[in-house]
Amino acid sequence: MARISDLCALYDGHLLPVLPKGNGVCPICHGLLSSGTGYCYQCKEAQSKLPATADVIGFIALAVKGEQLATDLWVYKSSRAHEARLRPQLGLSAVLWRWLSLHESCLANASGVDGFPLVTTVPSAIHRHPHPLTTIVSSTVKITSDRYIELLKPSEPAYDAACSEHARNERVMNERVMNSKRYVATRTPTGNPEPVLIIDDTFTSGAHIQSAAACLSDAGYGPIAALCIGRHFNRRPEKRGYIQFAESYYRAARQLGWSWDECSLCNTCTSAGTI
Ligand SMILES: [Zn+2]
Ligand SMILES: [Zn+2]
Repeated sequence: MARISDLCALYDGHLLPVLPKGNGVCPICHGLLSSGTGYCYQCKEAQSKLPATADVIGFIALAVKGEQLATDLWVYKSSRAHEARLRPQLGLSAVLWRWLSLHESCLANASGVDGFPLVTTVPSAIHRHPHPLTTIVSSTVKITSDRYIELLKPSEPAYDAACSEHARNERVMNERVMNSKRYVATRTPTGNPEPVLIIDDTFTSGAHIQSAAACLSDAGYGPIAALCIGRHFNRRPEKRGYIQFAESYYRAARQLGWSWDECSLCNTCTSAGTI
């Protein structure tokens, strides 16, 4: 069986760090902040629309549109060819495993807990069940598999091939809306504090993970830490005036460079990460 470090080598030269919070970087989602300070629009939306949000969000790496990590995060679940999905599924499993072994403690520290007895994933209403991420977290990655529990299910039944194109498009649109009622908790907490780590593949607007965190918090779980493998990043944002910020962010991430020893929570090179 291939070793984790060998599988992670598939991404040598292809991983970029998410910048630490600071000037020009949103302190919650570590995305672009054109105003320089405060929170980005999406994080403000999450705070105003949801009764609660994740206590902390960690990101493994920047998923730059068109680059390998972002492509693999799409292919591993969406390619129609089984063989095409296998390599990214293995690679992403290895990246998640290695990162958690080094930095899960950073998520726990930031959440004010010793660890996470429960690990779950964000369910999808538009992908088949079981979702490949569920298989990765509940089976492939051994440091999460014995703590995995399916705590959430979509309020609506999972998409199947019988859904009309219109119904599917509606699902896709709904996926982008912050709504704690999108999911239902499948288990009642024991009454003792139950910290949860929720894992998702790509963070785009935060609508999935923040809605899931709100649902779990509402059910009585907490603290809730979230980990996203990739933080979506578009070097060519459509919003006018954003391209220069995107390029500054990208350059700063390249300058900071990838290190397995640092993460968006424990990063010590804050001066190099300022844009
Ligand atoms: Zn934000
Ligand atoms: Zn760390």
